[in-house]
Amino acid sequence: MEIFKTKSALEAFLKPLKASGKKIALVPTMGALHNGHISLIELAKTYADIIVCSIFVNPTQFTDPKDLEKYPRPIEHDLAMLNEAGCSGVFMPDIAEMYPQGADENWHIDLGKAEFLLEGEFRKGHYQGVTQIVKKLFDAVEPDVAMFGQKDFQQVLMIKNMLAYFQLPIKIITCPIIREDDGLAMSSRNIHLSPVDRENSLVLSKSLQYVTDHFNEFSLDELEEKAKRFYHGIEGVELDYFTIANGDTLEKAKSKNENSLVALVAAKVGSTRLIDNMIIK
Ligand code: AMP
Repeated sequence: MEIFKTKSALEAFLKPLKASGKKIALVPTMGALHNGHISLIELAKTYADIIVCSIFVNPTQFTDPKDLEKYPRPIEHDLAMLNEAGCSGVFMPDIAEMYPQGADENWHIDLGKAEFLLEGEFRKGHYQGVTQIVKKLFDAVEPDVAMFGQKDFQQVLMIKNMLAYFQLPIKIITCPIIREDDGLAMSSRNIHLSPVDRENSLVLSKSLQYVTDHFNEFSLDELEEKAKRFYHGIEGVELDYFTIANGDTLEKAKSKNENSLVALVAAKVGSTRLIDNMIIK
């Protein structure tokens, strides 16, 4: 497995491979890897010959400086996991490599109304930061295919909108959510959960599962109300939103007959903010 710190070294590695017709997949991550990330690498292998994983904790997508500061960075562990997973190359630039003019360079693109809903409401400017770095990674790698997790449901939508904005010929693959045995969606931030938080964190997957399992029994409003009740009275858990939304627009669903429905949740558990979702249809 090759490790690259600069775009030019990465490009030099990829050029002959592309010339010989190899298909390239990009798996963008912020490191602190877990089996969710590895599932993206595994799925990438079914689409491409060469898998490039990027590890970059992107400052422009963090709205809370403390969150950025405490984001875990176990790089040796990450490299060992990627090597074992059969990753071809790792791109781990420093901040100056990705933001040579500084992180406040002018970037604003139209991502549609959904940018401002849900995560966009709680993390202002988050998706401008996400699309800014992903565009830079796409430019550096020029992959045939890029893998993203359904775990960040809204992010996938925003990346697809960014792709349409720039008319980039990259195939986006959405990978299923990998969970711990008890249902908690794997996340790099789970490491910050205390034992009590860890127990409390199960409320996210349980409330989503409830809505999925009982979808045919209640109205949308009743389902949402019942899901929100899961959060009542749990000390140290603060619900930001629980919504059943249209999967294309992320607007609150008006009818069960909408083409695509997804339940999405965000909650603070202790000092850690978690998100999760389940596709209903
Ligand atoms: P992150 O390092 O958290 O930015 O995540 C990198 C990629 O891995 C994103 O596309 C995430 O959606 C995806 N991902 C994170 N957690 C999971 C999970 N539990 N299952 C599947 N994919 C995930």
